[in-house]
Amino acid sequence: MVVNVNGQEGKASILLIYTGGTIGMMENPETGVLESFNFQHLKDNMPELKKLGYHVATYQFDPPMDSSQMGPDSWMKIVRIIADNYALYDGFVILHGTDTMSFTASALSFMLENLDKPVILTGSQLPIGILRTDGKENLITAIEIAAAKENGQPLVPEVCIFFENNLLRGNRTRKISADNFNAFRSYNYPPLAQAGIHIKYDLAQVYHPVSRRPLKPHYLLDRNIAILKLFPGMSPQVIESILTIPGLKGVVLETYGSGNAPTDEWFLTMLKEAVARGIVVVNITQCCAGSVEMHRYETGQKLLDAGVVSGYDSTTESAVTKLMFLFGHGMTPEEVKAHMNCSLIGEITVADHFRP
Ligand code: ASP
Repeated sequence: MVVNVNGQEGKASILLIYTGGTIGMMENPETGVLESFNFQHLKDNMPELKKLGYHVATYQFDPPMDSSQMGPDSWMKIVRIIADNYALYDGFVILHGTDTMSFTASALSFMLENLDKPVILTGSQLPIGILRTDGKENLITAIEIAAAKENGQPLVPEVCIFFENNLLRGNRTRKISADNFNAFRSYNYPPLAQAGIHIKYDLAQVYHPVSRRPLKPHYLLDRNIAILKLFPGMSPQVIESILTIPGLKGVVLETYGSGNAPTDEWFLTMLKEAVARGIVVVNITQCCAGSVEMHRYETGQKLLDAGVVSGYDSTTESAVTKLMFLFGHGMTPEEVKAHMNCSLIGEITVADHFRP
């Protein structure tokens, strides 16, 4: 149910979706453990919400969730809430735990086709009831960004994460610190805005819908995806057990440097056999920054020859959710491979933009 927090005529209206996470947690006095709390607790600790010059309505997950519990079902629920309320609001702010926020942001970017309004995820490292919380600034600035317009058009019609000072394209982000307030980075794409005294937007970096079509929400995701992170000395048994999982459709292969992997015959044979069985293997780098270039070294070239496709400069979070999305739409391995070579919504740095 959507509840009004404040209402001011003629002002931007924002739907605040509270899913859970540290921002709304409280310490259990008996165990000292942080536990999710309801939105009333968050509102009580945030009188500033009423002072914002916007119409802010809220929707809360019941019960609120630690983001470790999030997955396709919660992503679908968020997409449904946004789709059902799309015409009513100028923008959407999602309060979310930081742990899997980048996965949710990546998934939403694929699931909300033709998005032309801001969807800004934020949260905090310290609960809102704690004096030094980072939650208040994060939330207030996220709402400002979701409401920001120029000539009647939203400034950032994308799924983004706002955290500490930076507004980042959601499907380019990863959580990089369990401690720091500055917990997210987008290594392969510049920030869309930076918040200091003023919020400075870099509008040239913002993705704008190619054509104005109605929002097309997607609800189909396939979970038969695995991540295979290489490390020196990995045993054939481990690799084989992952590649032979019954029903497996896609593998995000986390390789070294610019997309390199061992050239042992057993390893390449296992990959070739997996590809022959219709499994799509996507090569992304374990490095934080930079791109896979499979033509650069012999080791990468051998992967290419084995039928592995490049993930370019994708994050793991984006590659996993993109595979879930593409297979969820019933695509054949060849179609999935073709789409992995294209940017659907600015998630990788390649020239083409097109959608399934
Ligand atoms: N465990 C919390 C969560 O992801 C951490 C946070 O919100 O920062 O829900």
